This record gives sequence, C-alpha cells and structure tokens, in this order.
Amino acid sequence: MQTYVSPIWRHLPSDLVSRTERCIRIASERLENNGRGRIFFRADDVAAPGRNIAKLMDIFKRHRVPLCLAVVPAWLTGRRWQYLKDLGAKESSLWCWHQHGWRHVNHETDGKKQEFGTSRSRSNIKRDLVQGKRRLEDLMEAEFYPVFTPPWNRCSLDTLQLLGELGYVAVSRSHGSEPKAPRQLSDYGVNVDLHTRKEWDPALGWSNLFNELQQAIPSDCCGIMIHHQRMNEAAFDFLEMLISILVKRRELQLVNYKDLNRLGP
Ligand SMILES: [Zn+2]
Repeated sequence: MQTYVSPIWRHLPSDLVSRTERCIRIASERLENNGRGRIFFRADDVAAPGRNIAKLMDIFKRHRVPLCLAVVPAWLTGRRWQYLKDLGAKESSLWCWHQHGWRHVNHETDGKKQEFGTSRSRSNIKRDLVQGKRRLEDLMEAEFYPVFTPPWNRCSLDTLQLLGELGYVAVSRSHGSEPKAPRQLSDYGVNVDLHTRKEWDPALGWSNLFNELQQAIPSDCCGIMIHHQRMNEAAFDFLEMLISILVKRRELQLVNYKDLNRLGP
C-alpha cells in the first residue's frame, strides 16, 4: 500500500534551518504565560512494529524529549507491546502511552470521518471505549495513562461525557474543538500538524506550518501532531532539527500528558 506523504516533504527548502530558528525565536518572544511555554508531541496510530516507529522513538530518546503515543487497542497484541516497550526501554519516563480509537474506523455515512461521532449510540461508544481501555490496561499495565485521542481529532458530546464518567484524565482533539470537554476532563488540543497536511503547494504548506507554530507556541499549550507512517527521510530530518532547536530554548518546556496533569493549568 502506498502511504500518502504530504507535498511539503518532497524536499526541504534550503533556508529551512534559519527559517525554523527565526520562527521559534519570534514565538518565544511572544510567550503569554509568564514568559514560559509548554509543548507536547503526540504520535498517532501506534501499535504495529516497523522502521518508522523505531526511528521516531529513537529521535525522542536521543534528545530526551517526552512523547505521547496514541495506541489503537484492537491493533495491539502482547508481542507488539513487548516490541514497543523494548524500543522505549530505559527511558520510560519520556513516554505517555494512551488510548486511540478502538479499531480506527469511520462510522459516519456523511460529513467528516469519525469513529466516536454523533451517528453512534451511547452504548456502542461506551463499549468501544471500555474494551479499548481494558485491553491497553491488561497489556501495558502501569505504563498505560488514561487519556483518549479520538481518531480524526473529533468526537461527540456523549463520548466526552463517558470519558469523564469512566475516569479518563484528558481528551486530545484539535485545539479549540467543540463540544467543550466536561469540567473534570482536561483538554490537551493539538494545533500543529506535521504529516497530514492537505496543501498541494509545498510553499503554501510551509508557510501555513510556520504560522501554526508561531501561533501555538505563545498560547497556553502547543500540541504537535505526528503521523510516523507518513514520514519520509525529509520529515524525519525536519523533526530532528525542530526538536534540537526547541530543546535549546529554556523558556520552552517539553512535556507529555502526565507532566501537564501534574503541572496543572
Ligand atoms: Zn489516527
């Protein structure tokens, strides 16, 4: 199967390092929250072993940067979990293994794709959440952290209420998503998309990506979304370069969901 790679990753512009440094510097100068910023990275569609997930975790490990990993419960087996756990060995404090959609399938017949959308009954949504959580808890034990990332970054009000009732700590959708999460559920939105960009023109894609970074970093929290299955060499090179620029800025705190929950708003 040919995996779709966004046009911005066909080749990297020659001035990319200086452009990225400039973008991060300007964003850091605009930090609203007492001159400090929080950034998390979230990798989606995790479960299957492969070169890309290994390469991705290796980058975070070498730079000692936290990563939230959204795992598809139905795709995970004991063997696959052992593989992922081995990739992250000795750095377990960096990883936040959490729950993605049960089977990652769309149930909507029209409108935007959703696995946990309004066309589904509350009982079916509850079943998929509960069996997903149970499977991840059984396999991952204490490594599992109760945060839910709905596929395609959107879900229904029923889903949000159930997450609150079932003891999840947080939900992670697109930043500013509606409906709002209930009060007991933290909302860790993503506002930067690296690998599922839709622009056909790479120049426009880069300009939009830098705008996203520049707006997200000064806000209360910047969430950067990763799709390792769609990454080519250029995408890996950029990610590593971005991380190495971010870690040098002491005013920027690189966190995962556990850190965010501990730090509070
Ligand atoms: Zn996904």
